[in-house]
Amino acid sequence: MSDTPKAPKAPRARAVVDLAALRANVRALRARAPRAQLMAVVKANAYGHGAVPCARAARQAGARWVGTATPHEALALRAAGDTGRLMCWLWTPGDPWREAVEADIDVSVSGLWALEELTAAIAGTGLTARVQLKIDTGLGRNGCQPGDWEALVAASRAAEGAGLVKVTGIWSHFACADEPGHPSIEAQLRVFTDAVAYARAQGLDPEVRHIANSPATLTLPEAHFDLVRTGVAMYGISPSPEVGSPEELGLRPIMTLSASLASVKRVPGGHGVSYGLTYTTPGETTLALVPVGYADGIPRAGSGTGPVLVGGKWRTVAGRVAMDQFVVDLGGDSAAPGDEAVLFGPGDRGEPTAEDWARATGTIAYEVVTRISARVPRVYLGETDPDTGTDTGPDTDVIADDTGA
Ligand SMILES: *Cc1c(COP(=O)(O)O)cnc(C)c1O
Repeated sequence: MSDTPKAPKAPRARAVVDLAALRANVRALRARAPRAQLMAVVKANAYGHGAVPCARAARQAGARWVGTATPHEALALRAAGDTGRLMCWLWTPGDPWREAVEADIDVSVSGLWALEELTAAIAGTGLTARVQLKIDTGLGRNGCQPGDWEALVAASRAAEGAGLVKVTGIWSHFACADEPGHPSIEAQLRVFTDAVAYARAQGLDPEVRHIANSPATLTLPEAHFDLVRTGVAMYGISPSPEVGSPEELGLRPIMTLSASLASVKRVPGGHGVSYGLTYTTPGETTLALVPVGYADGIPRAGSGTGPVLVGGKWRTVAGRVAMDQFVVDLGGDSAAPGDEAVLFGPGDRGEPTAEDWARATGTIAYEVVTRISARVPRVYLGETDPDTGTDTGPDTDVIADDTGA
């Protein structure tokens, strides 16, 4: 075994994001919902994958809409040059209604307070806001309660009459779409169709009705309506093992997270490893130091459980995940500083997947990818779409250091 570091071939750690795979996933999802438009959900920095490049790639692959949670996320996309239909839904009093309307963003309204703030913000400007009314069909989170729907519809009609708003959509969100056959799915669909019918009877004429997230897009054609909102599936991750594996769903994970070993050393048996000394080497062995930790978004719950591919074999995190680093025990195998440790990827090089990390740490794959922090540079592959020739990024793969959303 050599102690001499190899020439650095990559930074300390990197999240390689395959935009060609994202485009293929978007096309696969569009084929699943052929009569609906598709909204690419890129909230939370595109679940950690990078909102701007992911939104751009999704639009190249035919996403007519892009969606975010907060207005700030939507405004940041516009500032980065995104054009086309864009919607955001998580509004808090004091948020930038007028800026959003000026930026041609569809805003979501879940209650009278929001409609009042919105109309006050644009009164006298000559602007007309595109508003999508959200009905709570059973999730119990945001959205207008069915009992308050009549009042919200009436106030929206009045605001339309005053030229302040145009109701472009009526929408809702599922609680259990990732559990096919769950009785709440039928119940939510019934409340939703009733709410749409009532609003139409009162004179609203929404362009789009939508309720389907990734699992409903994949399993529930009757929920597609005019638009499906896909997040996790676009990133190649199954909404839940129950819905199927990515491969079975025709999807491919687009993020590969890897790091370069920072140290490789022989230690005797009985050597403790990492804070708390919760792991002790069973005999003389080789320890490799992986220079990523919970500050990079690696779950501390992966202590003693997280899988990592090093030297062609799955290893398990030895001892605790620290803020910046963790250790794996290579047993009798050798490695050198600079060798690659793959935490997760699509799985076809034998590496673990985000789903494997979710299982090992008691969470869902959504969280595994979304929590990868801005300290890990994103490296984009496939920015040019060969199908359209659209080249909206640099010719060469870029390393983006500033990945904050
Ligand atoms: C996050 C989110 C989605 C996307 O959900 P996925 O399960 O990732 O497809 C759709 N709609 C709303 C309102 C969301 O908050």
